[in-house]
Amino acid sequence: MILFENTRIFDGSGTPPFPGEVLVEENRIAAVARAGEASLSRENVTVVDARGATLMPGLTEAHAHLSWPSSVERFVPGMELPPEDLLLNTARNARILLDHGFTSAYSAGALGKTLEMSLKAQIDSGGMPGPRLIPSSIEREPPNESAYLASGKVTEHGKGPEAIRGFIKECAASGAKVVKFLLSGESALKPGASQQLLYSEEEIRAAGIQARESNVWLTGHAHAAEAIKMGIRHGFRVLYHCTYADEEAIDMLAERKADIFVGPTLGIVQATLDARPPPHIDMSHMKNDAATVLEHQRKLGPVLKARGVRLLPGGDYGFPFNPNGRNACDLELFVRHLGFTPIEALVAATRLGGQIMGMAEELGQVKAGFLADLLLVEGDPTEDITLLQNRGKLLAIMKDGKFHKPPAARH
Ligand SMILES: [Zn+2]
Repeated sequence: MILFENTRIFDGSGTPPFPGEVLVEENRIAAVARAGEASLSRENVTVVDARGATLMPGLTEAHAHLSWPSSVERFVPGMELPPEDLLLNTARNARILLDHGFTSAYSAGALGKTLEMSLKAQIDSGGMPGPRLIPSSIEREPPNESAYLASGKVTEHGKGPEAIRGFIKECAASGAKVVKFLLSGESALKPGASQQLLYSEEEIRAAGIQARESNVWLTGHAHAAEAIKMGIRHGFRVLYHCTYADEEAIDMLAERKADIFVGPTLGIVQATLDARPPPHIDMSHMKNDAATVLEHQRKLGPVLKARGVRLLPGGDYGFPFNPNGRNACDLELFVRHLGFTPIEALVAATRLGGQIMGMAEELGQVKAGFLADLLLVEGDPTEDITLLQNRGKLLAIMKDGKFHKPPAARH
């Protein structure tokens, strides 16, 4: 048993941090005691003196691309790696997310059909460091001449409802929990594409039916208003971007707020604006598009939040200019652009993180009975949300009751 004493507890519920202590027994939080109310027994426990540091739930990345190659440890120009390198690099990215306080990751697509299922099995069996993972297969876009994603080339998708159902069955059979569709295109890669629907109503209806039969969740890349609506109509659980949501789309999202999560995916947008590429790379089109997207998101975010729609941090990290490991930047962007307080951004990355992982009753809060995924943070992230971007401030990282990073002995 491990006892954290002299800590300030941010429990993920949304209340400000309070002084107290937390007892971990095996892989769960056994007790939380507020200072002055009760003191927990010291019998048979290893005591960690937090010296006023903040103890909080581990973070969830809601738009994870562990197989996107670039990380804070390794710059990869472009998206392609030889297969063996891709596998090992993906495993390395899983460790990098955990190093940066992300104990959970909800996949937004992989560069290999069964890559994340294999990775999850390795992590869950205790053989490799990495976050809890909701694994996905390859993102699906319809057959076309210039696929947006390198991943689109990997498999023959075919057109029409039957082909879609076949794709979902195949993903489910290989162990995917999430299947992602590009409901509309991506203007950052192809001008105007964000407003284009890539599937017919019949195809997405078939996706909804098959997903329910196969017991998998659907995720949609959706900038266009009609793409958002189509996703909602057919039971998509997570919608990324939602940039051009109109009144009707906002109403539909609000109506289904108990079943739907929205990932604005700000990290990639901000990174595009901030990027200073070498002279031979022209990002001017991407930068113009990012400026437009951010303008819309800054208006939309506060509206969706006020309507009670769950917005989660997670920002398409893994591109050369937006590497894996910078994931905590998204929390700052929620505060900077969407009108979130630091506490609201932290709740979105913790308590709501537990919800998107499908583990609302046992993940994402510091609460008796919950899984012990915990961060000990030097300072108070509810005062300064940027602290979480500095892994040096993460004094300890615990996942499932085990230290990934044990607290250093301090004198
Ligand atoms: Zn993505």
